[in-house]
Amino acid sequence: MRKKIVAGNWKMNTTLKDGMELAQAVEKLEKEKTSDALVIIAPPYTHLSKVNELIDDVKLSAQNCASEALGAFTGDISPEMLLSTGAEYVIIGHSERRSIYNEDNELLNKKMKLALSTGLKPIFCCGELLEEREAGKLFDVIREQLAVGLKDITIDEMGKVVIAYEPVWAIGTGVVASPDQAQEMHKFIRDLLIDLFSEQVAEDMTILYGGSCKPSNAAELFANPDVDGGLIGGAALKAEDFLAIVNAY
Ligand code: PEP
Repeated sequence: MRKKIVAGNWKMNTTLKDGMELAQAVEKLEKEKTSDALVIIAPPYTHLSKVNELIDDVKLSAQNCASEALGAFTGDISPEMLLSTGAEYVIIGHSERRSIYNEDNELLNKKMKLALSTGLKPIFCCGELLEEREAGKLFDVIREQLAVGLKDITIDEMGKVVIAYEPVWAIGTGVVASPDQAQEMHKFIRDLLIDLFSEQVAEDMTILYGGSCKPSNAAELFANPDVDGGLIGGAALKAEDFLAIVNAY
């Protein structure tokens, strides 16, 4: 059975104090959860080690990492530094990193390999733009993002990877993919993993949906056979909403 996961990406939100309160509230509600999904939170870098002291059942993720291990990269944070805060996961290739910071598939592949070799578990994001979907290129875009982003990762390492399908047109827009659109792409991704890796990798891979997921639409998205949970942005900033999504399983 593959792992069910609901992960909250806080993005550049919350002061340290607010973030600590939110983490405590998530940890408290997690203890009362009615589903068996693993709960992960991804606060800003500055909060990681403090938040790590406040959580136990909830797992910790960073939102990004450097593509180099150490050295003269002012302002960057390496996977090893993240690991030293207690972070277990790292989000790589979020659409905001791709679009705002021009992170391309090759760079993301470098980050993936470095994160894995350091011992972090990457949550690798992929997703198409609205124009790409409308032009019928959605499957080509996802194939390229996965083929290049996951290049040279071993089958063993793939056991530590989580994939998040996040159609860019659904992120932070309030426009959610329909359950059929999500299932269609998740099935495509799982089939692609057979070609790129193996049947076992495909079967075991946790594939999350992300993009305007809320308590009111989570259950119908999670009911799909190839949707194994969610990566949640806006709704992860309120502990009650976030846990309502977790409990939608
Ligand atoms: C995200 O940023 O990963 C995300 C899914 O955001 P939102 O839930 O706000 O659409």
